[in-house]
Amino acid sequence: MRFNTALLHSKKMGDEHTGATLTPVCQSSAFYQSSAEQHEKLFHNKANGYSYTRINNPTIAAFEERMSALEGGIASIACSSGMAAITNALLNIVNAGQEIVASTSLYGGSIDVFHDFEAFGIKTVFVDVSDAQAVEAAITDRTRVIFAETIGNPKLDVVDIEALAQLAHRHGLPLVMDNTVATAYLVQPLALGADIVVNSTSKYINGSSNSISGVLTDSGRFKWDKERYPGMAEYARFGKFAYTAKLRNGLFRNTGACMAPQTAFYNLIGMETLGIRMERICANALALVQFLEKQPGITVNYPGLEHSRWHAIADKQLERGYGGILTIRVGSKERAFALMNALTIPKIVSNIGDTKTLIIHPESTLNAHSTEEEKADAGVYDDLIRISAGIEDIEDLIEDFTQALQSLDAE
Ligand SMILES: *Cc1c(COP(=O)(O)O)cnc(C)c1O
Repeated sequence: MRFNTALLHSKKMGDEHTGATLTPVCQSSAFYQSSAEQHEKLFHNKANGYSYTRINNPTIAAFEERMSALEGGIASIACSSGMAAITNALLNIVNAGQEIVASTSLYGGSIDVFHDFEAFGIKTVFVDVSDAQAVEAAITDRTRVIFAETIGNPKLDVVDIEALAQLAHRHGLPLVMDNTVATAYLVQPLALGADIVVNSTSKYINGSSNSISGVLTDSGRFKWDKERYPGMAEYARFGKFAYTAKLRNGLFRNTGACMAPQTAFYNLIGMETLGIRMERICANALALVQFLEKQPGITVNYPGLEHSRWHAIADKQLERGYGGILTIRVGSKERAFALMNALTIPKIVSNIGDTKTLIIHPESTLNAHSTEEEKADAGVYDDLIRISAGIEDIEDLIEDFTQALQSLDAE
């Protein structure tokens, strides 16, 4: 099946008991059991079934299955947010006294949470992951994982996943990729060698910004060395499902950042149109890029631009388009604010991946907690505006940018 058909039909559609074409919302915290024996089996992983929604629930499980199919993994765990998914994905395998190697070009919230990990004895070394030597130099015998975004938010650098995965594997390390900005519509990191992929499903997967959620998906391929990852030893009996079994029987279950069944339902609906939304969003982003490139005093950053530093890798790695996010630099913070205030269709929102076009000034908002050096490394400048293209009619967007730019020049 091709991309859009698979979104609808790759897994059992709806509910086989009633013929409902959508998966019903199982709005129940807990599930009764046929016998005490059955309940015992469930608690010892000796039977399939549901016990308590913090651990799993049929609506959430349906969403997890669809995410596994979308990302080409063997198992997924749905979480209450993208940040919860990132935290679970990493803390499942990194302990106090150990280290993470992460890209300098990350979503601001991810940079913040890595700093929070310091209080628990976990250090993160940030490097430019396009520089293989720098990555090699950052790896020590305490490193347990490498983390990057497929398209960095908001730097829009495109990471060479194949090369980074090979480097990680040479050092016996798993590669965790955040695929939120690109989505599986543009690239499947697991197919290129990454071991675990995380998505903030609050964004393009949900599609219309009606709820916060995240998910992690395991390829099942990484061979967990018992000395390096001693916590994995007792889960070795789950074979290729060891990583997700450890999470679901441990940190994920016990810290309780589970997805709400209603959110899983919204995400299942949103996912059905991921392909057609991304097609339109990528086309709108590209049209905006082409229009803005011609405007004096504006520089545009987009991996689809031929003069982009990341164009070659974007062309090689991304299928079907270059993504829905672009950034522009307009000369000063004052001009950036004036342009944002003059636009009427794009809304000032700290979010991406909506049906509506969204704009933000990252330097004063998302990266408010970053140091000057972190901002420079993340490609965040005080005259930079991030634009997340929506599905509006492109003519309306271009007319709106035209009037907003004219109002700037009139001042
Ligand atoms: C939004 C975002 C996150 C965090 O996701 P939440 O659902 O807001 O917790 C993580 N990574 C990237 C790239 C994001 O854009």
